[in-house]
Formats: sequence, structure tokens, C-alpha cells
Amino acid sequence: MPGSFEETAEAICAGCGGKCCHEAHPPLSPARIEEFRARGVPPSVIEFVGYTRMKSHDNGMCIMCSGGKCRVHAFKPETCVAGPFTFEVQDHTLRLFLKHETICPLVPYLKADADAYATQFRMAVKSLMVLVRSLPAQELDVINRIPEPETELVAEIPIPPGESGAP
Ligand code: SF4
Ligand code: SF4
Repeated sequence: MPGSFEETAEAICAGCGGKCCHEAHPPLSPARIEEFRARGVPPSVIEFVGYTRMKSHDNGMCIMCSGGKCRVHAFKPETCVAGPFTFEVQDHTLRLFLKHETICPLVPYLKADADAYATQFRMAVKSLMVLVRSLPAQELDVINRIPEPETELVAEIPIPPGESGAP
């Protein structure tokens, strides 16, 4: 596929239709909730189900997805910024997983482009560290129990004690 990785990603994601936004329920840090409020996103799009998260439509698609596009792309939740990397926290360690291409068709293109992979990996770590440092332990515990099938572990990064509510 010709063009930059960004152009490739745009085309792949457009063709995919946003699988990662289906039943996504991304968690929201206090800072993101405040940003939503400041930008006029109504609080009705958020719910608390063991952790604070985005609601979905009845068909499972994230409430912020419209016509295959994210309505809050410029300030989307931390886990959305991190995709197709996902995470769990165990023993004060941020464990990063990469989705299999069966659930994210962008992954093979990311794996084939070392620079793009490194850039997205750095962005994922930065974004997820912000999230885990801001969430209380009880919420992280609920998030940790959400199954993440069809992923592979790609990194384990220590979180200094006291810098997260991590169990
Ligand atoms: S699942 Fe992957 S390819 Fe599909 S929209 Fe999400 S990031 Fe893009
Ligand atoms: S906030 Fe945006 S990127 Fe995240 S799941 Fe919802 S529509 Fe997708």
C-alpha cells in the first residue's frame, strides 16, 4: 500500500469500520473527564460500572463513534490513543499487549514498519502510564479483569511504587 504509515493507517481503519470501537468501553481518567466537560461533551456519555467509562450504543458501538469516525478523536481516551496496544497492571508493572491481526487489521502493517511501531509503542506507554497513575486501585482491579483475548504480550514496564493505584 503506497504512502506514509499514517495514510496507510487511515485507509486500513476506514476499511475496518472501527472494530476497536465496538464494545470498547474505554476507561476515563479524571483529566479526560475534565477535558470532556471543558469541551462541552455531555456527561450523559459516561457511566460508572466498576470504573468510569464511555457508554456504548445498543448495537455495541462506542457512543462517540459516528459514521465510522471518533467524535472526540483529538482528545480521545487514553486506551484509544494506545491502540492497537492494550494493557493490564500486575505487581506494579505495566504489561503491554498487542492485538492480533485477526481483531485489528492494522497490526501487520505496524509490525512491518519499525519506526511506526516504535512511535506508537512510545505513545501507548505514555498514555497508559498517565491513565494507571490516575486511577484508584479498585478501578484498575476491575479493568484488569476484563478479558483481552487474541493479544500477545510485548513489554513489561515497572511502575515506581506509589505512582499508581496498581495492586
Ligand atoms: S481495529 Fe485496528 S484497523 Fe480497525 S479501526 Fe481499530 S485500529 Fe483501525
Ligand atoms: S472514544 Fe473514539 S476511539 Fe475510543 S472507542 Fe469511542 S469512538 Fe472509538
